[in-house]
Amino acid sequence: MKLKRAKVYKKLLHQYELNFGFREPYQVLLDSQILEDAYKFKIDLVPRLQKMFGGEVKPLITTCDMRHLYNAKPKNETLILQAKEYERRRCNHQDLEEPLSTEECLCSVVDPNDKATNKHRYMVASNDTGVRAHMRRIAGVPLIYISKSVVLLEPMADASEQQREREEKSKFKLGLKGQRKPDAGQKRKRDDKAEDGEGDQSVVDQATGEAKPLKKKRTGPKAPNPLSVKKPKTDKTPAKPSAPKKAKDPNADGAGPSTTAATGDSAEKEEGGGAAPRKRKRKHKSKADGGDTAPAENEAASP
Ligand SMILES: [Zn+2]
Repeated sequence: MKLKRAKVYKKLLHQYELNFGFREPYQVLLDSQILEDAYKFKIDLVPRLQKMFGGEVKPLITTCDMRHLYNAKPKNETLILQAKEYERRRCNHQDLEEPLSTEECLCSVVDPNDKATNKHRYMVASNDTGVRAHMRRIAGVPLIYISKSVVLLEPMADASEQQREREEKSKFKLGLKGQRKPDAGQKRKRDDKAEDGEGDQSVVDQATGEAKPLKKKRTGPKAPNPLSVKKPKTDKTPAKPSAPKKAKDPNADGAGPSTTAATGDSAEKEEGGGAAPRKRKRKHKSKADGGDTAPAENEAASP
């Protein structure tokens, strides 16, 4: 019996983890009633819960339930001392003259916005049937109680079960969509192709239009743009050397070098002048023979 129950609880807890996001340490709200019953049956509640869930348990008690322990007619000091070690869950009812009932207080703590959701993922350990009946209307509240000196976990309530089924259906649909979208696989294949050969990549990339490959291609096209930059460089380079040559020749030496330099300069000028106007003339002729040719000739003549 015990083994079977342990298996059932393990499965149940797994469902709470999957569908309602429960995690260790499991936060268990203990009410005053179950603490008194555990004391009566000599049950060490927190270790028992940890054994039941196979994980760390964080016991909590609300301010109201702590006051219930203090107000109990035969005041149980050992129980109060034990409860003081639990984490106090502040419920904002501490200023009231009398503490709220466990049912009212726990509901405000578990479902503060009345949305029938267990906002902070609390488990509720209560031996008050009214409390547990109320908690069953809130989706995803694991309920713990003591019966005949045995600590038990309630089967999932209808509200929780319906919520769980909805979650699983939506997850199933998401899974189907994920299978229909083979983007990840395709991307991987494309990447592999890219790694294998560069030329082939570019073609595939253009067809597909992926971001990474496109960037690579863009870098490729940018290289040809420098070709247009090279033209101005070629024009500048002859101009710069020509200017210093002119300056050096007259200052440093006599007629011999100067004449050679002059002849060189003249030759360069002739070459440069000849090349530039030819190109321009061709362009202009192709475009228009009229007014454009005149400025080109003027530019060639000026240097
Ligand atoms: Zn309270």
